[in-house]
Amino acid sequence: MDIFALHKELAAVFGPSGMEADIALAVKERLAGAADEVTTDTLGNLTARIRGKGKKVMFSAHMDTFGLIVTYIDKDGFARFATLGGAEPDYLLGARVVFADGTRAAVCADGSYNRKEPRLTDMYIDTGANAQSVKVGDAAVYGGEAVTQGGALISPHIDNRACCAALIAASRAVARPKNDLYFVFTAQAELGMRGAKTAAYALEPDVAFSVDVTDAGDTPGCKPKTQVKLGGGAAVKLMDDSVICHPDAVAYLVSQAEKLGIAAQRELLAGKGTDAGAIHVSRAGVPTGGISLPARHIHSPNEICRISDIEDCVRLIIAAADI
Ligand SMILES: [Zn+2]
Repeated sequence: MDIFALHKELAAVFGPSGMEADIALAVKERLAGAADEVTTDTLGNLTARIRGKGKKVMFSAHMDTFGLIVTYIDKDGFARFATLGGAEPDYLLGARVVFADGTRAAVCADGSYNRKEPRLTDMYIDTGANAQSVKVGDAAVYGGEAVTQGGALISPHIDNRACCAALIAASRAVARPKNDLYFVFTAQAELGMRGAKTAAYALEPDVAFSVDVTDAGDTPGCKPKTQVKLGGGAAVKLMDDSVICHPDAVAYLVSQAEKLGIAAQRELLAGKGTDAGAIHVSRAGVPTGGISLPARHIHSPNEICRISDIEDCVRLIIAAADI
């Protein structure tokens, strides 16, 4: 399976937090033939089950992306916005965005904008002529196209469509699993892992793995410093702001990575959470680990990762299914 082509298709599908219907359908189409059953739930999570007789193993990759939501439109058609998920204002300024109906726009700064203290409230969305097709509550996402060069992937929404691609590729590779597998494509992760919370409660898994991006620390002047770098292989999560991963899950992932010849970079993500945070405290607690894709410039219009690291994530997901 061409993981770049799969990511490119998924990254082009509209699906900010709370508006995951289109991306859920796109994922479902690509799971055809691989899953024994595919279901959706109230919050919009999509779950593909591949039956096995062993443990109930849950994998989650959130399918929602960072987005902007229109809060106010002035008489000239310029739209003010809030964000669906967190982002640096620097990342937004000058970005091209696209609404669900295909309307394109640019994110711009007004006269109050202070480069030293950039604020979202000093920014607006400009659709060019007017915003007649845009109304309060409409959302927009980064509108760039995924490209690859020299083994790198430059694309909006690597968070977390590259991990959705990895989960789809893995689910297509595990034909007769030992364990009872649930591949969950969660909703509303960018707003605080809301989909993962209800999905984990409903599934009551024996063990779970969240698959998401993590900040690479290999850029100039990167703070806080992290050991994780692009091209270093799939990373094994130790903790982030939402979870301390279960030692058994960590040990299993590290041992499997070593068997596969993956460097298994150890990952501690500061200031951010993942689906693992919601899953591990579900009901009486779920032993939870995290498989992380190193990425740069997360929530910017141009996130960057390595194709080989996505492929390592696929191999590690397949190995983790046998826990
Ligand atoms: Zn994410």
